Amino acid sequence: MPEWNVKLTDKIERTSEITSFRFDPPEGFKYLPGQFFFVYIPAEVEGSIMHHFSFSSSPSEPFIEFTTRIRDSPFKIRLNQLTIGTAVKIATVSGQFTIAEEMKKIVFVCGGIGITAARSNIKWVLDSHSRVDVILLYGNRDSTNIAFKDELEHISVDSFKIYHILSDPEEGWDGPKGFINAEFISSSVLDLTDRIWFISGPPVMVKSIKTILTSVLNIPEGKVKTENYVGY
Ligand SMILES: Cc1cc2nc3c(=O)[nH]c(=O)nc-3n(C[C@H](O)[C@H](O)[C@H](O)COP(=O)(O)OP(=O)(O)OC[C@H]3O[C@@H](n4cnc5c(N)ncnc54)[C@H](O)[C@@H]3O)c2cc1C
Repeated sequence: MPEWNVKLTDKIERTSEITSFRFDPPEGFKYLPGQFFFVYIPAEVEGSIMHHFSFSSSPSEPFIEFTTRIRDSPFKIRLNQLTIGTAVKIATVSGQFTIAEEMKKIVFVCGGIGITAARSNIKWVLDSHSRVDVILLYGNRDSTNIAFKDELEHISVDSFKIYHILSDPEEGWDGPKGFINAEFISSSVLDLTDRIWFISGPPVMVKSIKTILTSVLNIPEGKVKTENYVGY
């Protein structure tokens, strides 16, 4: 199994709860947008503890990055304490949550932290100037919880559109409310069956959205790709 030691170079607060961790890529390091990898961080008793993370960076960027919600789990507490310059071990780049050459119309459907693998793909599409039409359906609790909000909302190409839905919006929000549902999906995406659908996030959310797509909106199962953040 290939593995590498990489130095933490930056921590970026995306929201008050969500942080990105950046590392220098090892020489010759290769991955595809939307893939995931194993991250081992030093731990006193166990030696190291491991979690899987999707890349939130794109291979077109000069760093590798993952992004997570900081909770009070043993892994996240240690992760959040790492200082810049600390080495962590990464290994086993894997996964198939990547836009393929022949896919020209895509929808990413993400709840909360599920944005990571989508952001990796979207950044790759923009940097490689690919002719891919992308719609992002993005569900969050409220506006302050939207990771990569500014970056995504400032994408100014016609071939990218973003639609938000909030489950517990702040006062003044006049957009769609609730969890991602059939009405939100079908009112945002008019050419439902022309597109390839990418759903990423916690398994419960992925399962529920996949059921809506295939059973309610009659999208063929072969057009739906999923990445389950098992453990979330
Ligand atoms: C392919 C893949 C890609 C992934 N990509 C990402 C990613 O990009 N970003 C990301 O953040 N995670 C990602 N994950 C999930 C990640 O590996 C962790 O499992 C997740 O972040 C939870 O870690 P934890 O340390 O908070 O909880 P753990 O301590 O590992 O949690 C163990 C269990 O307790 C529950 N739990 C822990 N704390 C809480 C809490 N405060 N409230 C409620 N339940 C709790 C968890 O749901 C889990 O069932 C990915 C997983 C896979 C398999």
